[in-house]
Amino acid sequence: MTTAVVVGSGPNGLAAATVLARAGVEVTVFEAHQEIGGGARTIHSPLPGLVQDHCAAVHPMAAGSEYMASWELEKRGVRWLRAPIDAAHPLDDGSIAVLHQSIDKTAAGLGADGGRWRAMFGSAARNFPALSEDIFQPMLRIPRHPFLLGRFGIVAGPPPTWTRHLLRTPQGRALFTGVAAHAINRIDRPLVGGIGAGIIAAGHAVGWPVVEGGTGRLTEAIVIGLKDLGVRFETSTPIRRRSDLPRHDIAMLDLHPRNVVPLYGDLLPRRVRDALARFRSGPAAFKVDLAVEGGIPWRNPEAGSAGTVHLGGSSEEIAWTEREIALGRMPERPFVLVGQQYVADPTRADGEIKPVYAYAHVPAGYDADATGAVLAQLERFAPGVRERVVASVTQSPRDLARTNANFIGGDILTGAKSPLQFLFGPRLTPHPYDLGVTGVYLCSAATSPGPGIHGQSGVNAAQRALRWIDRRVGRT
Ligand SMILES: Cc1cc2nc3c(=O)[nH]c(=O)nc-3n(C[C@H](O)[C@H](O)[C@H](O)COP(=O)(O)OP(=O)(O)OC[C@H]3O[C@@H](n4cnc5c(N)ncnc54)[C@H](O)[C@@H]3O)c2cc1C
Repeated sequence: MTTAVVVGSGPNGLAAATVLARAGVEVTVFEAHQEIGGGARTIHSPLPGLVQDHCAAVHPMAAGSEYMASWELEKRGVRWLRAPIDAAHPLDDGSIAVLHQSIDKTAAGLGADGGRWRAMFGSAARNFPALSEDIFQPMLRIPRHPFLLGRFGIVAGPPPTWTRHLLRTPQGRALFTGVAAHAINRIDRPLVGGIGAGIIAAGHAVGWPVVEGGTGRLTEAIVIGLKDLGVRFETSTPIRRRSDLPRHDIAMLDLHPRNVVPLYGDLLPRRVRDALARFRSGPAAFKVDLAVEGGIPWRNPEAGSAGTVHLGGSSEEIAWTEREIALGRMPERPFVLVGQQYVADPTRADGEIKPVYAYAHVPAGYDADATGAVLAQLERFAPGVRERVVASVTQSPRDLARTNANFIGGDILTGAKSPLQFLFGPRLTPHPYDLGVTGVYLCSAATSPGPGIHGQSGVNAAQRALRWIDRRVGRT
């Protein structure tokens, strides 16, 4: 029987394990942390009784992923819950822009920009399943839907700081730029707009749902299914050298490319080793989980109905603060993403004490305390919020890196989303999963299609491995 080891149990590691186990391969997953799931876990913080997402919180990518659909998660007890508003972007003058799953409702709220928003995202949203056949694959290939991809590229290709000029109102521009800032990097560069445009299109197709009871429920459902397929799990087992692994035919590495070098550096072809060693990490996140009595007193009450709230002010301000963090400077008012998962999922709250999830974009390796900056951004759009905070817990870039070796310097996207790295991953090749060592594949979010809970990097890498097995069987 063919045997495989998977190093790292993030969503991509589990997806690789799924594809291999379904093909009859004997799979063992090794995870450094005591819990399985990487960025898809639940924590109970900052107070017992509150349910919080450790990392990933909203799931346009998971809900739109063919791989996730293959698990029939709803039959396994996973419930997707949607807030009345997917995302909101308040401005200093008290106005707000809101993103709904319905593109018509979003357009209606954007007034003069409504028609333009529809023109920018309507085609991608309507055809999201077809579009994902291209954008969930490596870029160096002949597209299945060239016209659809080309049309998407008109919005995704230019720097978001240019694309925003397709919109006219401060609200429309801020809404678009706030989602583009999910790239956690400069947004005045070409191609990086693919992240924001992809999230908006997926959101209009499937919404921005949260998982009832926390993102960890998604992982738990998949792990039960994997155990039924015979997959074994070894937790609290960091793999530091190749000799830590048992004999195997296939190795799937859910790792940061730089962390592959200590394991396989002596076997990697020089060009591959150099490319992996050169792979750059990006700016970081500073996460603050808050327990807030009665929830956040937003100046604009519509923000209280949103699952996600982007705090960064105008489109121009966001572009500037994202540039600053990429250049290693901490702005006074960083971009802050606020998660109010309890709006869709009241089971996460403890009566009137609501769990609020927030993270600021900060420079790589930022080692000061950004809690004050996060609270100041909240206070800017929700005066009086400080008095309602009854507890808080922070995860600094160093804490994030300590709990997950893929988050080097606190970079939660497993690699800087600079134009080339975002589009191609560590190497310019049609097969970014191949490492040039027989049976060894990279399957983390550093490879196409990049970050998010979709599992597609793991699926694509495992399919390469299966192709290799088929060729090997054909030879014997
Ligand atoms: C604060 C935050 C918010 C986010 N929000 C969202 C969101 O709302 N929606 C969304 O879709 N995505 C979100 N993401 C991104 C998403 O979590 C990641 O893109 C995704 O988890 C990447 O999956 P992965 O399998 O590549 O790696 P990871 O999830 O990073 O998992 C890698 C695993 O490998 C393990 N590992 C590393 N090295 C070793 C080793 N040597 N030996 C053994 N094990 C090892 C790690 O411990 C970890 O468990 C967020 C991330 C963070 C941190």
